[in-house]
Amino acid sequence: DQNILILGAGQAAGTAVASLRQFGHKGPITLIGDEPAPPYQRPPLSKAYFKGELPEERLFVKPLSFYETQNVTLRLGTSAKTLERANKTVTMEDGTSLSYDKLIIATGSRPRTLPVKGADLDGVLTLRSLADVEKLQVYATPGRRIVVIGAGYIGLEAAAVARQMGLEVTVLEASERVLARVTSPTISEFYQTVHRQNGVDIRVSARMEGLEGDGSHVTGVKMADGDIIPADVVLVGIGILPNQDLAEAAGLLCENGINTDAEARTNDPDIYAIGDCANREIVQYGYRGRLESVHNAIEMGKIAAASICGKPAPKLDAPWFWSDQYDLKLQTAGLLTGFDQAVVRGDMEAHKFSVWYLKGGRFLAVDAINVPGDFMAAKRLVGSGAILDPQELADVMSDLKSLVL
Ligand code: FAD
Repeated sequence: DQNILILGAGQAAGTAVASLRQFGHKGPITLIGDEPAPPYQRPPLSKAYFKGELPEERLFVKPLSFYETQNVTLRLGTSAKTLERANKTVTMEDGTSLSYDKLIIATGSRPRTLPVKGADLDGVLTLRSLADVEKLQVYATPGRRIVVIGAGYIGLEAAAVARQMGLEVTVLEASERVLARVTSPTISEFYQTVHRQNGVDIRVSARMEGLEGDGSHVTGVKMADGDIIPADVVLVGIGILPNQDLAEAAGLLCENGINTDAEARTNDPDIYAIGDCANREIVQYGYRGRLESVHNAIEMGKIAAASICGKPAPKLDAPWFWSDQYDLKLQTAGLLTGFDQAVVRGDMEAHKFSVWYLKGGRFLAVDAINVPGDFMAAKRLVGSGAILDPQELADVMSDLKSLVL
């Protein structure tokens, strides 16, 4: 049976391993990861795990014993350095080489670094891994001051948790609203309000100049107008970059991620790319790009495993995402690609509503806050091209099932 090598041991890799065995692959599987932990789920890092409410093992995609019983070789705490496609080998940092019949690249992504003076000071942190949370938790005591740079989902989730732990929290966002890259002005405004009500100092259109330090440790953020915001810790959450260097150096096609086809295959038929590092097609939306979500990591892990095992591709699920902040459980179904109408259904003040995104009257996506029923209904509509009546949609008394015209 074929010898399978997987680079990167995160959510996508963990799913691929489980699916390979499930689809009947009997041959050797080796999983290489540069972190010490086996594949784990990252979402709780900015939520319950950051708060100290979950033990590390609860994050694992599969318990450690799974890899032993399934005869999967784990090589953790070590990174792969180069890929030589001609002789189908990967060279590790210690110089050893591993060969493969099929290779799966699941190297994920890394946080962007801040291109300003002082970004390398102690206390300037990012939030991607278990090790990052450990560093952040050192500062997580009441009264400490945290400045979060970047108001994406991760930055805002961390801000919410830090506030709940009693820290003084400032969020600096360069664009004119929070979550600008991922959602509508309606949702952005809502989150800005909730954060402010919870005592977070949210500053949008913020122009920062650099980070101030005492020689070794960060002490504050210097703004373009000369103002200095004091900080004991600075969390940088300004997006991620795909870990595609090794693939690119080996001549695999990459454009913002490693290009893949419908089977998660790269331009080398023996090499697959899955998860955050992959550039894929989402047929329902005519979209090509990277998706940074658990749904995508799991789906691509299954697709690659099915292809390797010669099984039919699994049925594609609608793209979806979630975010937890305070009492708000946000669930997004679909992709907000170029909507021209946003219809609010429900009660924003009561924190129970959804925003339906339409394009030319056709359903595109939903952001649902504390209304899982709306999310479920919307998920079923993804890809249907359904035309929805905005007035009926906005009426909570109307049955969502009857809205499809
Ligand atoms: P990863 O999980 O990043 O795994 C890749 C692994 O490969 C890493 O361990 C990396 O260190 C390793 N690696 C890289 N290069 C090498 C190499 N050369 N050799 C060996 N190992 C290597 N998604 C949601 O849908 N909902 C959420 O609420 C949500 N919250 C999130 C909160 C946080 C704090 C973070 C960081 C992410 C969140 N995400 C969320 C996104 C989601 O976790 C990612 O999309 C998912 O983890 C991607 O899985 P992956 O396997 O592609 O990459």
